[in-house]
Amino acid sequence: MPTPQPGPGQVRLQIRCCAICHTDLHISEGDLPLPKLPIIPGHQIVGMIDAVGPGLSELKLGNRVGVPWLYSTDGSCQFCLAGNENLCEQARFTGYHVDGGYAEYCVVDEKSAYPLPAAFSDEHAAPLLCAGVIGFRAYRLSGVRPGQRLGLYGFGASAHLVLQLARFQGCEVCVFTRGLAHRKLAEQLGAAWTGSAEDNPPHPLDASIIFAPAGMLVPQALRVLRKAGVLALAGITMSQIPALDYELLYHERVIRSVANSTRDDCREFLRQAAEIPIRPRVQLYPLADANRALQDLKHSRLEGAGVLQN
Ligand SMILES: [Zn+2]
Ligand SMILES: [Zn+2]
Repeated sequence: MPTPQPGPGQVRLQIRCCAICHTDLHISEGDLPLPKLPIIPGHQIVGMIDAVGPGLSELKLGNRVGVPWLYSTDGSCQFCLAGNENLCEQARFTGYHVDGGYAEYCVVDEKSAYPLPAAFSDEHAAPLLCAGVIGFRAYRLSGVRPGQRLGLYGFGASAHLVLQLARFQGCEVCVFTRGLAHRKLAEQLGAAWTGSAEDNPPHPLDASIIFAPAGMLVPQALRVLRKAGVLALAGITMSQIPALDYELLYHERVIRSVANSTRDDCREFLRQAAEIPIRPRVQLYPLADANRALQDLKHSRLEGAGVLQN
């Protein structure tokens, strides 16, 4: 691909690294309809601004910035006006509607790029931008409060960051995952209990988040959720949810999905991540090995987050 040139209000990033996400896998394997082809995937981009277009208001040459999944919104639809820009009718996403970070360079609108806390190296900042931000939103929408019990289903890039956030806020965290290596990492990061989705945690949970794209987990998670507990579904897609006995949902249990994130989610999460500080576990790959990295993600061979490096 030719090196892109920034237009008005845009910056060009010399990309340092880009973390990989299940959504990239769904895009590259055709699970999602693609609005643009060819498309460069990647929406957890860390880069240095090496060229600027006219009319910038905040960013400058040489700034280090991150680019997340939410790329742009119209600012005028009913959802934007209500503060739910993550649901914008005209939302465009990085690495989906516009070329993303599996590349040496990308061009983005200035307002889609966020300065990154100095506390994080490039490789550690990258997974914060989707795994972290979406996990943060799912955590918020689960309604779990400090001191309560939280369940996490699937233990990949997002869950290992949410676990650290939840522990910082004094939550007791139970992690449901098949992989023994994933359970070990969860315990190292402070999980109170680990097991598989069929197992019973020591106590009913106040809230749970499902990260794995497996609909069969929904009845299993409801089974150990307390009355009026919230089950948040964090994925962009999920296999079919099996038929449920109403008893699993009765007593005011809530199932809700989580879609994208807002600019405020991104800013607020980056601030909190630096304060805690969250320590992402990363597995590094050269950019040329992107396909191998995605296959490792697909087959649960990653510890924490996979990151492509230039
Ligand atoms: Zn993502
Ligand atoms: Zn909108």
